[in-house]
Formats: sequence, structure tokens, C-alpha cells
Amino acid sequence: MSLINLGPGQTLLIKASRIWRGTPAPPQEGLIYVQGGKVIAISAGNDPEEYLCTDHSREPVPVLELPNCTVVPGFIDCHVHLALDGRDFSRAQQQWTARGELLERVKADLTNTLEQGIVAVRDGGDRAGIGLEVKQLVATGRLAGPLVLACGHALHRQGRYGSFLGPGLTPGELEKAVDSLARQGVDHLKVLVSGIVSFSGYGQVGGPQFTRDELQRIVYRARSRGLRVMAHASGDDAVRLAVEAGVDSIEHGYFLSEESLHYMAARGIAWVPTVIPVAGQVRGKWRAQYTAREIEVITRTWRRQVEMIKKALEMGVTLGVGTDAGATGVCHGQGFLEELLLYREAGLSPADILLAATRNGAAILGLEHMLGRIEPGRPAFLVAVEGNPWEDVSALARVKYVFRPVCSYI
Ligand SMILES: [Zn+2]
Repeated sequence: MSLINLGPGQTLLIKASRIWRGTPAPPQEGLIYVQGGKVIAISAGNDPEEYLCTDHSREPVPVLELPNCTVVPGFIDCHVHLALDGRDFSRAQQQWTARGELLERVKADLTNTLEQGIVAVRDGGDRAGIGLEVKQLVATGRLAGPLVLACGHALHRQGRYGSFLGPGLTPGELEKAVDSLARQGVDHLKVLVSGIVSFSGYGQVGGPQFTRDELQRIVYRARSRGLRVMAHASGDDAVRLAVEAGVDSIEHGYFLSEESLHYMAARGIAWVPTVIPVAGQVRGKWRAQYTAREIEVITRTWRRQVEMIKKALEMGVTLGVGTDAGATGVCHGQGFLEELLLYREAGLSPADILLAATRNGAAILGLEHMLGRIEPGRPAFLVAVEGNPWEDVSALARVKYVFRPVCSYI
């Protein structure tokens, strides 16, 4: 994989066997003319002459030939935790105070993320503010990585699940906590509406942490500060509370009902189902730590999730792709393709999977004006993969080039 950083004065003509522009239309052979980190023009066919002649600079425009490759918009992971490494939960937390080590680890994970073609990630928070700090390091060019949208601390109720994600709050502190995060420059809010899903009892989830009134107060305050709300909610009661409070996306949503999906479709609330943090537990080396009973519970849980993904699509719910990368068993970068292959297992077509990984992710992040599609005037966040992912999504495992503008666009 080669990473191509597109500088302000740089021009490039990409000649690809297929270009998929991030729309429901299939890919076509064509050329993409890039200048100063932006897509300037796209044309069907394969004759580069018009661009080579119309360029007014003295330097000849370099042409990058990509035979048997498909160029697609860069991918978006809607749910990661940059503070965690996906391998060792307690060691990752110990590193939070060992800065040199932490930055080395984060640097490697950001590289892995870019190498999979992921050009933007939405962080789900941590108590130490690492996600927010990494966002600033990337935005100022001190770390090379995808665009990072961060939430700082996640909001959760004092004494309930989520102490590694932020300090617990009493009901009287909710508005103050939202205001404080807004002042820190977060991109969105993360609220923990439920606990986590049990691996030993099928369908068991830690119950709701907030009342409807408290959640509505959080969402209202977030709106007044211009912030979207991503809600960690599993168990149908928690999902319903979050939907009624008007959050922007349901994260995880294990055991949500078809009725809740209907409400989500009607209200334009997106779903980021994060299958791999559950399915990954019974794969590879992780499987050995569970009993036969737990393996059965985990397997039933992720299979149910996969069935609901197909239903959600049919009902018109906006599906994003989120890996929960950093959670134990999900490494930054690699988890993304695994999640997409689980969407394939759900019965989604390559087109639906590609749209979820690009266009829908951009909408969920609120960056639909710059990510998710290849269009003239947009920043050139592009990925070239060998083969044709429109026919077989496993082609996304063969990322050849990742293109990204070096200038900051956020
Ligand atoms: Zn998470």
C-alpha cells in the first residue's frame, strides 16, 4: 500500500480501470484530475490528453496508471476508541500516563487505519481525553492519520458502566458537562444510555442509565451547542429511550426490535451496529478465553445482529460502519474489513456495503459535503483497490493506494 499525500501545488492524473463515485451507479472506467488536494474533474474514458493540455503549469502533469484497479471514496469508521489498542485493555490504560509509549502506539494504529483506506474516524471517547488530543495532533499535522472527530469524555451516570470513558455524572451535572465538552472543542457528544451486553446470558444488557427527561436534556443542550449525539444503547428499552430523546445515531443496538428500527427510519436516526467486537470474541486466539456456553451466547448475539442489519436496510435505516476499534479483540484498521464482510454475511449487496462505508458514514459524521463521494470541488480522499469491489467486496482487502490532501479541511 502506498500513501499519497497531495500537497497544495501538486497535480496528478489518476487513470483507473474503474471509478466508483459513491453513488448508487456502478463504477466506470475513467480519469480523475487532482490539483492542490482537490478533485478538479472526472471524466469517463481513458484519454488523458485534454487534462495534459489544459494544465497551465510548466510542469507536466504526472499520470498514475491503475490497471485493474477501482478508485473509490475513502472509507469512514463511525466508531473507534483511539485511547485503546484492541489487544490489552489494562495495558492500554496504563499507557495513558506514559506519553512516549502512548504516542508510538497511536502512531502505529493511525497508520494501520490509513492503510485500510479509512480516511476519517469518529471517536467514542475515553476518560483521559486521548481521542481529543489525537484529533488535535492530526489536525495540526504532528501525527499522520485519518481525520479524527472526537468527543472527549463520554457522558455516563455516576456508579454505572463506563468509568474508563469519562467521569460519572449526577443528574444535576448534565448541562454543565455538555458545556464543558463544547468548550474543549469536541465534534460530537457520546452518551452511554445502557450498560454492555452480557456474554454469559443471552439477551442480557445493563439497563438504562438515564431517564427520558435526562436524555432529552442532554440532547437539547448538545443541539444548542451545535453538537450531534452518538448514543451507546443496547437492549430495546435503552434504544427506545435514545430514539425518543432524539439522538443522532444508535451505537451497537444489540437486541433492538423491528419496531425501534421503524422509529429510527422515520426519524432519520442512523444505526452503527458494531458486529465485530462481539463476533471477534469467538475468532482466533480470543475464543480460548470463553466457555462453550459463552461461545454459544456470543454466537447467537452476533448472528441476531447480522439479521437485524438486513432488516434495517430494508426498512430504510441509514446504516453506518463502526468497528469499536480499540475494544478488546478489534485492532485499529483491520477490524473495518471484517465488519464489512459481516455485512456481506447479512445479505447486503456490494453496492449497499460500499454506500454504508462511504456515503452513509459521511452523513453520520456530518461531513457529507467533503467525504463519501468523488466529485469535482471535493477534497481528494480516495482509495484505489485491486479488482472490483462492486462485484466482490473482498477486493477491499487489496488496497493499493490511499490519497489524501495534506492541507487541513476541517
Ligand atoms: Zn465504543
